Amino acid sequence: MLEIRNLHVELEEGGKPILKGLDLTVEAGRVHAIMGPNGSGKSTLSYVLAGREGYVVTQGSARLDGEDILAMEPEERAAAGLFLAFQYPVEIPGVGNMTFLRTALNAQRKARGEEEISSGDFLRLVREKARALNIDAEMLKRPINVGFSGGEKKRNEILQMAVLEPRMCILDETDSGLDVDAMRLVADGVNALRDAGRAFLVITHYQRLLDHIVPDVVHIMADGRIVRSGGPDLALEVETNGYAGILGAGAAA
Ligand code: ADP
Ligand code: MG
Ligand code: MG
Repeated sequence: MLEIRNLHVELEEGGKPILKGLDLTVEAGRVHAIMGPNGSGKSTLSYVLAGREGYVVTQGSARLDGEDILAMEPEERAAAGLFLAFQYPVEIPGVGNMTFLRTALNAQRKARGEEEISSGDFLRLVREKARALNIDAEMLKRPINVGFSGGEKKRNEILQMAVLEPRMCILDETDSGLDVDAMRLVADGVNALRDAGRAFLVITHYQRLLDHIVPDVVHIMADGRIVRSGGPDLALEVETNGYAGILGAGAAA
């Protein structure tokens, strides 16, 4: 589903190389985790895939179902089925959550040549998804993210994911750290949305999220590349030996 080949990315300002020949293949129906020390380029990878400005791809490719996503506008990427959780972490005063969600859904439909969803159908859809994920529909009436707790923001992101039904979901947990409840919430949401036609890339610095979202494949990223891949046990190895231990072992092997 997602195929990244020899991806090289540098910062637009200053030209510092961040990704240095990254290879990654994520198959449909699977959950891949990327772990790695701080500063290894994990967030940069998710930003580049989502089309955030400020990064220059100097070499390599990223394809979603064979289509060159790096050549697409961010909205086209979303229409192609790519979703970056936490891509809308901003507070948008005055824009209701429902309005935002409906606008996003309709933009996606339009890009796919589909008709806009009616307000009745949209309401039904959101209520159904919210119910399935145990999300309080009251939250939906509030301006997006304004005054949301960390847990509510996560809940909202999971709901966005459920409504937009992306096929390739990228979650960057960043290094800010989720509390246990927020982590559970994200994990339950992801697990509920696991599906044979959908793939996840879960980016996390810490092993603990992977206690709840058990990945099929774990990759270790260091200095802009994937340096080791393995099964879920690899995450436990990180927990036991730290990145220094893992990367040392990788170099020796
Ligand atoms: P990770 O998510 O693995 O912690 P990042 O992708 O956030 O890593 O960062 C990789 C490297 O790129 C770090 O050295 C970071 O300081 C640098 N970097 C990323 N984005 C920027 C930016 N916009 N300006 C300056 N440095 C950046
Ligand atoms: Mg970091
Ligand atoms: Mg990061």
